[in-house]
Amino acid sequence: MRRLALAVLAGPFAFARGAPAKAGLLIFFVALLTVITQIGGLVLWLCVPACAWLNNRLGDRNSALRHGACLGLSAAAYLGASVATIPLAGAFGRAPLDCGLTDAATYGPRTIWTCLLNRHYATLPARQALQKVSAELSADFKGPWVTYLDAGFPFFDWFPMFPHISHGDGRKIDLALVHIYDAVTPSPIGYWGFVQPRPGDPQPCDGREGWLRWNMAWLQPLLPEIELDVRRTAALLGALAQDREVRRILIEPHLQRRLGVDYPGIRFQGCRAARHDDHIHVEFAAK
Ligand SMILES: [Zn+2]
Repeated sequence: MRRLALAVLAGPFAFARGAPAKAGLLIFFVALLTVITQIGGLVLWLCVPACAWLNNRLGDRNSALRHGACLGLSAAAYLGASVATIPLAGAFGRAPLDCGLTDAATYGPRTIWTCLLNRHYATLPARQALQKVSAELSADFKGPWVTYLDAGFPFFDWFPMFPHISHGDGRKIDLALVHIYDAVTPSPIGYWGFVQPRPGDPQPCDGREGWLRWNMAWLQPLLPEIELDVRRTAALLGALAQDREVRRILIEPHLQRRLGVDYPGIRFQGCRAARHDDHIHVEFAAK
């Protein structure tokens, strides 16, 4: 029992003496998964002693089998932990957004990876407001099309969600801009496929861009050109801006002008933050 407790506590550090390279690699992945998924690092940490035990049981069989078994065990543990997270997050006042897997869904993620990586948690009022707005719009415009990108992690207000500055508290949800036809966004993750300003449009950051304002110029020629659906994006912004649970919406000034929406809650995020002409950042009321 004591040995088991020590192995669980040591995690990847158990290899620090015998196989330092392996320990370093595992620690790197624990850190990476923590940053990307919040719970994934802890799951991997706990899987290290479980894998060592499994490898012992499998004995001298070929290493592909042993690695495969370990990978399978870790993936199953992560999926199990993700399911167990749903009720646990409730204690933190958070709930998962709809992953769009059923026909009843009126909104969904741009990519299922947002759900698999546990980046789809929000406070209950935020989730309710998104549900209400998307249900209304889906009835008005025939069919669901409201699409979210990153929302928040399941636990802890103080836990940052890279690369977002402010998504820690579950009150922020990024929504995709709506494009014509069924192509949701030019970029497969929703971010970084920008609607570029047109000549004469307001460009307040021209020449004074902060380091967090990434233009991703190299990526733009690689993305398909899909036209912005002005009518539906404007309807989405209008519905959100008039919802009582919505505190603030961030968007680039040139896009706001093109969409012709003017509500007190719609603001410009400034030049020291990410561009908001690939997505809309929506902040909801406090819990
Ligand atoms: Zn955001």
